[in-house]
Amino acid sequence: MVGAGPGDPGLITVRGLALLRGADVVVYDRLGAGALKRFVRPDAKRVYVGKQPKQHTKTQAEITHILIREARAGRSVVRLKGGDPFVFGRGGEEAEALAAAGIPFEVVPGITSAIAGPAAAGIPVTHRDAAASVAIATAHEAPGKAGSRINWGALASADTAIFLMGVERLAGVARALIDAGKPASTPTAVIQDATLPTMRTVAAPLSRIASAAARAKIRPPAITVVGEVVSLRDVLGGWDTRPLSGVRVLVTRTREQASELSAILSELGADVLEAPAIRIEQPRSFAALDRAVSRLRDGRYAWVVLTSANGVRAFAARLRAAGLDARAFAAAKVAAVGPGTADALASLGIVPDLIPPSFTTDAIGKAFPKGSGRVLLARADVVEPGLEEAMARKGWDVERLVAYRLRGQTSMAPEIRRAVLDGEVDVLTFASGGTARAFMKLLKRKPPARTKVVCIGPVTAKAARAAGLRVAAVARVHTIPGLVAAVVDVAGAKTTGSPRRARAR
Ligand code: SAH
Repeated sequence: MVGAGPGDPGLITVRGLALLRGADVVVYDRLGAGALKRFVRPDAKRVYVGKQPKQHTKTQAEITHILIREARAGRSVVRLKGGDPFVFGRGGEEAEALAAAGIPFEVVPGITSAIAGPAAAGIPVTHRDAAASVAIATAHEAPGKAGSRINWGALASADTAIFLMGVERLAGVARALIDAGKPASTPTAVIQDATLPTMRTVAAPLSRIASAAARAKIRPPAITVVGEVVSLRDVLGGWDTRPLSGVRVLVTRTREQASELSAILSELGADVLEAPAIRIEQPRSFAALDRAVSRLRDGRYAWVVLTSANGVRAFAARLRAAGLDARAFAAAKVAAVGPGTADALASLGIVPDLIPPSFTTDAIGKAFPKGSGRVLLARADVVEPGLEEAMARKGWDVERLVAYRLRGQTSMAPEIRRAVLDGEVDVLTFASGGTARAFMKLLKRKPPARTKVVCIGPVTAKAARAAGLRVAAVARVHTIPGLVAAVVDVAGAKTTGSPRRARAR
C-alpha cells in the first residue's frame, strides 16, 4: 500500500518508487495517477478503481476483492493511493481486509496533501510565532450532515485547521468555525491541485472564503487551511507564484528534443503539453554521409558547418560506424550555429572554431570568413534557404550534405489539437521553421488570437508567419533558455487578473 504523495510525481518516496517499478499489478484511482504514468513498468497490469463519469464506481468491497485476488495469484501488487494511504483514503479499511484475508502487506507512507498542499502554497502548518497545533478534518461532515462526529469547538481552538474533501461545503465549514469561536477575520486559503501544474490558491478572511472560492471556480481536489499561518504566504510565495504558474505552454519539438525545453518550462511553473510536430529520420541511404566522413578523414574539408545538435549526432554516428573518432576532424575547422550544437560537439571532444554572435543560420553566413576551399554543410533535408549562397559569396566551395531528414508528424493528439483551437493553450513555442510549418499542417486552422506564438529566432519566426501564424515574440538569444525567457515575457503580459494573482494580500 503505497502513498503516491500529493500530486507531483517527484513527491513519491524512494521506497514507494522502488515498489511501483517492480509491481506486476497496480491498483489506483485518480489521485496519485501521475506517479503511475511515469514509473510503472509498461507490461504491468493497471486496474483503475476510481470514480468514472456515468459509470458504476467500485465499492470498497470490490476494491479489496481485487487486491486479494491479485495477491493470491502470486503477483506483486501495489495499491497506489494519493497522499498518505492512511489519511482519509480508506487505506485503513483496505489494510484491515488484507489482514483478515491473511495477505502479507506493507504500508509505505506518503507525503499527505494535508500538509504538503499548504507547504506548496507557502503556508507552514506550524510556526513558532503563529501556530503550535494543527487539526486535520474532513469538510464532508460540515454541519447538517447526519451523524457528524466533528468537534467544531476543538477545530476552532486548534491554531491551524485543515480540511480535506468537500470544498462545496466551505460556507458551512466557515460558519461552524465562526459559531464555535474562530474569529471571522482569520486568514484562510483554499488550495486546488496542490503541487500540480494546474495548482491555484485563493485566500480570504474566513467569513469570505466560500464566496472567494466560488468566484474563482475552485474545484476538487482542494484543501482548506484556516489560521494565522496563511498570511505567511505573502512573504514565502508558493509553487503557484512562479513566473509561469497558471500558464499553459505547448512544446512542438521532436519527442527526443522536447524534454529539455519542457523541463525548464515546468521548473518555472508552466503546465506543459507536448505535441511533436515533426520527427527525425535517417537519410534514405548513408552513402553521402559515409563519403563525407571519408573525405573528412582525408583532410579534404577546410570547414565543417553544423546547424543543429541533430546534425552533429547524425554525423557522429557515421563517424563511429567507420571506426573513426574526433581525430578525423584534424585538418578541418568547425562552425556551430549556437550553444546547443556546441554542446553536442563537446560530447565528441570538439570545441567549435566559430559560433556566430547571434545563433541563427543567417548569422553564420555573416560571421563566416572569406576564403577558398571546401566547406561541408551537414544539415536537415528541408532547411531555410540562404546559408549556402552566403558562404559561396565568400569564396567557398560548399558541399551540402543531408545528415538527417525532418518529417511532419501524421497526426496530433486530438485532445491537444482541441485545446489549442479552443484557446486553452496560452503559448505555442517553435524552435525551427520546419516545425511551425508541420504544426500548421496538423492544426489545419489558425489558433485563436489570444494564443501567443513564441519563436526561437527570426528565421523560425519568418517561417511561422509564412505558415499563417501571428508571432507574439522572438527570443532575443536564439537558444532554448532564450526561448523560455521570451515565453516568460509574453506570459507576464497576459496573466494580470488570472487566478494566480488572486492570492492573499
Ligand atoms: N490520502 C490523501 C487524501 C485523500 S482524501 C492524502 O493524504 O493526501 C482526498 C482529498 O485530499 C481531496 O478531496 C482533497 O481535499 C485532498 N487532496 C489530495 N490531493 C490534493 C491536491 N493535490 N491538492 C489539493 N487537495 C488534495
